[in-house]
Amino acid sequence: MSCTFCRIIEGKIPSTPVYQDDFCYAFADINPKAPVHILVVPREHIGSLDEAAAEKRALLGHLLWAAAEIARKKGLANGYRIVVNTGEEGGQTVDHLHLHLMGGRQMTWPPG
Ligand code: AMP
Ligand code: ZN
Repeated sequence: MSCTFCRIIEGKIPSTPVYQDDFCYAFADINPKAPVHILVVPREHIGSLDEAAAEKRALLGHLLWAAAEIARKKGLANGYRIVVNTGEEGGQTVDHLHLHLMGGRQMTWPPG
């Protein structure tokens, strides 16, 4: 499997783990855009949010819950942002579904 995030999940590419359970793995973004910048990815390969079938609805909810749980554990009581870049115009660069959890600074709107 050549997918970067699958290789991270398999431990073939090193990462800094933050949280993991039966369904997802969360690790530090290698190029952080905020003091806290964590990626939450499903253990199973799903190319993007657009490729998540109806049967994956519970998994999608789990990913959101995990991100919120990590934010609580990281003490992001003042707020945070979750981003799911999807497809080329969405700015997605790694084709394995992932949630960006960013916090620790004031976010601006709209994003670029
Ligand atoms: P996106 O542009 O939404 O697809 O986000 C991909 C993210 O993956 C970027 O923020 C990258 O910095 C991050 N990234 C790429 N390769 C690695 C890696 N080996 N370890 C950690 N984060 C990575
Ligand atoms: Zn993958």
